[in-house]
Amino acid sequence: MHTSYIELSESAVKNNINFIKHLIGEDVIFSSVVKGNAYGHGIKTYCPLAYKFGARHFSVSDASEALEVLDCLNSKDITIMIMGMIDNQHLEWAVENDIEFFVFETDRLQAALLAAKKAGKPAKIHVEFETGMNRTGFVRKDFGNLLKFIKSNPKDIHVKGICTHLAGAESIANYKRITDQQKKFKRIINYLKRNNWELPQIHMASSAATIRYPKTRYDLVRTGIVQYGFFPTQEILVHYLDKHKNVLNPLRRVLSWKTKVMDVKTVKAGEYIGYGNSFFTNVPTKIAIIPVGYSSGYNRSLSNKGKVLIRGKRLDVVGTVNMNMMIVDISEASDVTKGDEVVLIGKQENQEISVSSFSDLSQVINYELLTQLPKEIQRKIVL
Ligand SMILES: *Cc1c(COP(=O)(O)O)cnc(C)c1O
Repeated sequence: MHTSYIELSESAVKNNINFIKHLIGEDVIFSSVVKGNAYGHGIKTYCPLAYKFGARHFSVSDASEALEVLDCLNSKDITIMIMGMIDNQHLEWAVENDIEFFVFETDRLQAALLAAKKAGKPAKIHVEFETGMNRTGFVRKDFGNLLKFIKSNPKDIHVKGICTHLAGAESIANYKRITDQQKKFKRIINYLKRNNWELPQIHMASSAATIRYPKTRYDLVRTGIVQYGFFPTQEILVHYLDKHKNVLNPLRRVLSWKTKVMDVKTVKAGEYIGYGNSFFTNVPTKIAIIPVGYSSGYNRSLSNKGKVLIRGKRLDVVGTVNMNMMIVDISEASDVTKGDEVVLIGKQENQEISVSSFSDLSQVINYELLTQLPKEIQRKIVL
């Protein structure tokens, strides 16, 4: 049983998905990226909400996530796409269940063919090309064989898409690299056209590219972080606001993470709090014990740095974050009592703790901190 809980805001999901759909228009497919347990939001709670507000295409990173999406939606009108690794043993399952998957090298192509033959159904693949990320994808020297293979197995291999992934569209520092990737991908598309490939869905954009490089949208965008209410970086937010002559952040945070005060006490001056000697009381200090620690996803690096909200006040985490507990200085909120609501992420009265202000680190950390939220924490939907 977990000592904290997560709330997902339905109206925020609606707002964010509408934002994306409005941005990309009717002709581009919105693929809701729900890898990393829907960026910590919880696949089983998040996907039905996304479905309710119009998501019909879901991207995950492996077969177990694909299974979860399938389980919680079991609807005929959705498409599930695996972008990362699947063991060959799971390929057959994917084929049987009409789950689409990335193919990024020749062995995987062979395995897909075998799986299709075994399942007696075509494998629906997205051929991934290497364009400069230097991670996964077919490279130039493979193209000849790839084409031959695809053309000679039309019954078993259905190419649903061709794609690539950008290496950091959220930062202007990567501008040259990103535009080079775009050029390279375009050359690949032209090459395939010249070789009479009937071109399926073309896709390359994640959230950052969807906003900053509209030409990368092609037929489908793989949008993760934006649907949860975050711009990938501050830079992308500023870019968006500037371009749209807007002053307000159009997104709304979906997730809140809350717990309750476990105990309160006063520590006299001249004492250390918690393990070791990282926090010393210069004056008598009132503290609250919070039943959440790094095993619940509250990063240990927030020791003496994190902030929480209690009774509408922004309070400091003092001492080290323990495995299952941490301590907050409530000297400035001395009316705090046992059982009071503690907001670790989210709003309380006029205050808000965004994931990034967990600490002063850059927003890129959002991705990491969110996905550290354990699957077992209870998730509920609020308006
Ligand atoms: C995670 C991921 C995305 C989504 O990225 P966001 O920045 O969250 O929008 C898109 N494509 C691939 C291949 C990914 O791994």
